[in-house]
Amino acid sequence: MTYDPNNIFARILRGEVPCQKVYEDAHVLAFNDIRPQTPVHILVIPKGAYVSLDDFSAKASDVEIAAFVRAVGKIARDNGVAESGYRILANHGVHAHQEVPHFHVHIFGGRQMGAMVPKS
Ligand code: 5GP
Repeated sequence: MTYDPNNIFARILRGEVPCQKVYEDAHVLAFNDIRPQTPVHILVIPKGAYVSLDDFSAKASDVEIAAFVRAVGKIARDNGVAESGYRILANHGVHAHQEVPHFHVHIFGGRQMGAMVPKS
């Protein structure tokens, strides 16, 4: 899939759309999900133009990938869910219902969660 530079997360990265920022560094931006499903629901995105994990894992540099993974762990710790537990989730493509075509990881936490993948 070709990257669409007008997707909503690209617009957030360019400052055209506001977000509740929780973390930023040279390679990564994180902000609260606009429709939180858990008390902590943070979206972590790379600053580079990658459609999904499939694209990111194939094309991102080792520096970008390391920065991203380190940021996810730090954001979870800094937001108080590392001890109680959290779930990370990345949707890729149609079967996973990926809504926004800019790679992102969800961090869910702050309450007990249910089954990892519902049956239907
Ligand atoms: P996906 O299904 O692509 O993994 O999830 C996209 C997520 O982005 C959804 O949880 C949705 O609530 C969130 N989202 C969509 N538009 C916006 C927005 O404009 N701002 C923020 N902060 N989150 C958004």
